[in-house]
Amino acid sequence: MKSQEIRQQFLDFFASKKHAIVPSAPMVLKNDPTLMFTNAGMVPFKEYFLGQKNATNKRVTDSQKCLRVSGKHNDLEEVGKDTYHHTMFEMLGNWSFGDYFKKEAIDWAWEFLVDILKIDKDCLYVSVFEGAKEDGLGFDQEAFDYWKKHISEDRIINGNKKDNFWEMGAQGPCGPCSEIHVDIRSAEEKAKVSGKSLVNMDHPQVVEIWNLVFMEFNRKADGSLEKLPAQHVDTGMGFERLCMVLQNKQSNYDTDVFTPLIREVETITDNDYGKNEEIDIAIRVISDHVRAVAFAIADGQLPSNNGAGYVIRRILRRAIRYGFTFLNTNEPFIYKLINTLSKQMGPYFPELKAQKQLITNVIKEEENSFLRTLDQGLVLLDGIIANTKGAEVSGKKAFELYDTYGFPIDLTALILSEKGMTLNEEGFKSELEKQKNRSRAAAVVETDDWVVLYDDDDEEEFIGYDTLKAKVKITRYRKVSSKKDGDLYQLVFNMTPFYPEGGGQVGDKGYIEVANGNIIYIVNTKKENNLIIHFAENLPKDPTQTFNVIVDEKQRFRTACNHTATHLLHQALREVLGTHVEQKGSAVHSKNLRFDFSHFSKLSVDELREVEDFVNARIDSKIPLKEFRNIPMETALEKGAMALFGEKYGDTVRAIQFGQSVELCGGTHVQNTSDIWHFKITSESAIAAGVRRIEAITSDATKDFYFENNRAFFEIKDYLKNSKNPLKTIIDLQDENTSLKKQIENLLKDKAKNLKGDLIHEVEAINGVNFLAKKLDLDQNSIKDLCFDLGNAIDNLFLLVGTESEGKAFLTCFISKNLVAEKNLNAGTVVRELGKLIQGGGGGQPFYATAGGRNPEGIEKALSEAKRYIV
Ligand code: ATP
Ligand code: MG
Repeated sequence: MKSQEIRQQFLDFFASKKHAIVPSAPMVLKNDPTLMFTNAGMVPFKEYFLGQKNATNKRVTDSQKCLRVSGKHNDLEEVGKDTYHHTMFEMLGNWSFGDYFKKEAIDWAWEFLVDILKIDKDCLYVSVFEGAKEDGLGFDQEAFDYWKKHISEDRIINGNKKDNFWEMGAQGPCGPCSEIHVDIRSAEEKAKVSGKSLVNMDHPQVVEIWNLVFMEFNRKADGSLEKLPAQHVDTGMGFERLCMVLQNKQSNYDTDVFTPLIREVETITDNDYGKNEEIDIAIRVISDHVRAVAFAIADGQLPSNNGAGYVIRRILRRAIRYGFTFLNTNEPFIYKLINTLSKQMGPYFPELKAQKQLITNVIKEEENSFLRTLDQGLVLLDGIIANTKGAEVSGKKAFELYDTYGFPIDLTALILSEKGMTLNEEGFKSELEKQKNRSRAAAVVETDDWVVLYDDDDEEEFIGYDTLKAKVKITRYRKVSSKKDGDLYQLVFNMTPFYPEGGGQVGDKGYIEVANGNIIYIVNTKKENNLIIHFAENLPKDPTQTFNVIVDEKQRFRTACNHTATHLLHQALREVLGTHVEQKGSAVHSKNLRFDFSHFSKLSVDELREVEDFVNARIDSKIPLKEFRNIPMETALEKGAMALFGEKYGDTVRAIQFGQSVELCGGTHVQNTSDIWHFKITSESAIAAGVRRIEAITSDATKDFYFENNRAFFEIKDYLKNSKNPLKTIIDLQDENTSLKKQIENLLKDKAKNLKGDLIHEVEAINGVNFLAKKLDLDQNSIKDLCFDLGNAIDNLFLLVGTESEGKAFLTCFISKNLVAEKNLNAGTVVRELGKLIQGGGGGQPFYATAGGRNPEGIEKALSEAKRYIV
């Protein structure tokens, strides 16, 4: 069965059990402070488990894109080395939000695998939770009893807390689980060693395929468990592993999920898969990583230097480096795989098809730049090797190469071993650890448990589109402490006018009125698991009271101006540059706005002008806001709105219209475009291949901008004695300056020429050497010319020149090449030794060297010492 059909069968099966089929949520998480990537199928549904949002469908099934490369679930280092862990993989899931529980979950999993897919039940094992004393949890008898109906008791294994108690993170929803394992070894091997003894032992053919999690607890900050308001089912089956089983393969990479990619790598790099373990690993790494990177870019996450973008860059670099070392590639080639990938995965994940060009360009550019880094690193490493005494390179040096230049450490180790040298790995690890500790200490956030004051079932209402003030109750609060921000209180209200950071727009600031006319500042607002969280500097003395909360109006207004301008800018870019322009990210602050979009070349001055004019024309036309709340997605699309890939939309959406500009948007906007006053682009740049960034300002900020520019202009004019045409005056001054510089240069050259004539007569012949040591008043460039001129005119020359400039001393030594050889003289040694007299040092070549120092007083002494080298 083809992989496409396997995925469909799963979804169809659970649809037949009354599950709604939903598409995969984005793999890259935006606005989630606790997680960078979706690392399990349950992530998009977290808030349902926590009881912070009510599910519209109580039964759901999906295939979720997951990425396990950071945090609690990190498989990166295994990937490629083994045959069943990937960075990006699909997790097939069926979900019950407070609906069915263990019985159905177990019965249906069995029915699907054994009755529908016809997997031989003699190669299946299941595990149940054995209990954990420290948590007060006993053996999962219930799950055991349900399994017993399907499978013989000796195939049911007790699992410990590590394997059979699923937790999302240190805190949060969790519960016991039952795993299903398959043994796909040959009958011969099975006869030799029992499969049961290999379960959870990292055997590549006895692997876990499906995990059924019975969510019923919440892990609190103090480590204790509390019962969740309802019981849920969360299952996750590795799609690629299931394909391996059904296609009778021994490795995920031999299924049709990967073979097209592997064939392509073989052809491009002229290597065969399956002949040499090192080459195989490299090919697996590349075919795996290209998927992770492509899906991340399709979700809007470009490789970059920090956060999620940095993780993506590192994954891609790992692939490039494996190609470079084991497949001998030194030209970009991974980008070429995108064609095949989008053909194969595009039907189920349309984002790959739609963004193919962008993904290809970005990967190619990254490949180019990392290959340059590798070249550079190789040169640096040669330098390190040359300066290393003995056969071991210090961990510190290797760490520098890794940390500053991004040169992979395993490559350093490999190259060293090829040259018969070693790397001090302990030293490297300790440097790495030191750095990790530094950043960890800075990032530690301690989060207390929520103190729930009013358990109101209703979702917290956002009323900030209509008002900036409200009377509210605090429904829950908790304290968070971090090095960066100190102690803050996170408050949740029953309803709130504060806009939480999201859709590129910053969170609102403002304050709470407390007793006696005092206030508590709210420094930020964010959304977490569907709760709107206000970051307050303090907690009211009696948090159970009712409070007035007020949003900072000025900041909100400026932000709204920038947000509306962002929409107009988007429209302008599509109008001026073409409809290939798509939003790739935005940041709307009160001070300015930033808009990233796909486009392949730098914007010309005329284009920028046209874009600005387009936006300003709409501001001048005084277009009123039309807001559509809670309309069905189709209605919004009919109005002309565009859905963005990598965004998660609800069942109903909000659309914002200003004339022809229609966008799906949850942000806050001005009532009329004329409120914006004026729009001004402040910069345009590239942030990746095919992605440009515009930064711009509006309203008061443009007033300040023009005011500042104007002031600078008048200051310049003033300085130029009120010239009528300051630009021309500056150009004239520059021309004059250039010609004066030329004149000085010529004068100096003449001076040196005359000097040469004089100096020839001062040379003394000593022991067959023509010797001269003298202090001169010339710049360093002229001295160099003079030395070589004299060297051409006089044979067997030993010349030492001292100069003084701006309180510093310089020595220059020139020795004719034949003398260097015959008399074993070395200009480098001369300046290094005599340099001590001017409290400095230097070096160079045997026939020409210079030294600089802090002590001009020492010049005379140095000159008088010079003779000793030739007598
Ligand atoms: P393993 O012990 O094999 O790493 P896990 O315990 O980490 O698995 P879960 O977190 O329970 O796995 O995830 C549910 C299912 O997702 C697993 O049963 C497996 O089929 C699949 N899976 C987990 N990690 C990966 C991965 N890195 N690549 C591919 N599939 C995976
Ligand atoms: Mg794992």
